[in-house]
Amino acid sequence: MELPFWKTKSLSEMATNEWESLCDGCGQCCLIKLEDDETFDVYVTNVACRLLDIETCRCRDYEHRLQRVPICLSLTPEKVDEFKWLPETCAYRLLSEGKELLSWHPLLCNNNNAIHEAGISVCDFAQSEEHIHPDQLHEHVIEKM
Ligand code: SF4
Ligand code: SF4
Repeated sequence: MELPFWKTKSLSEMATNEWESLCDGCGQCCLIKLEDDETFDVYVTNVACRLLDIETCRCRDYEHRLQRVPICLSLTPEKVDEFKWLPETCAYRLLSEGKELLSWHPLLCNNNNAIHEAGISVCDFAQSEEHIHPDQLHEHVIEKM
């Protein structure tokens, strides 16, 4: 049986479509983070970037996201050092740490809803930045990174 590309190629060897297909669409990296000025601790909020479609957990303008949201992450194999900031369930982080994809990943189960059913995506609890005043963000902290 032929092994899938993520088992035979390193991250830097993957074609663009293979690389993009690793994103499971959890939306976790689209949640706004706050950094404490004094301790530099980073906190995750339940507030999602204004471009995230909360229902589908997909970016509403992925092609132009970097122009529209300057702080949006552009993940590339060269930035592997930054992957530690991604959630532990993120395929880019898992593969960069030599781990396996998790069972609900769309590439494994061929079901785009599995990630929502497994409670990994943010669609059940995220609120859009469009409805939250920036001064209220600290009231939406859900965890420390
Ligand atoms: S955390 Fe990883 S898998 Fe989830 S949306 Fe972001 S890049 Fe994709
Ligand atoms: S621009 Fe799109 S991909 Fe980037 S953080 Fe916002 S919703 Fe996520």
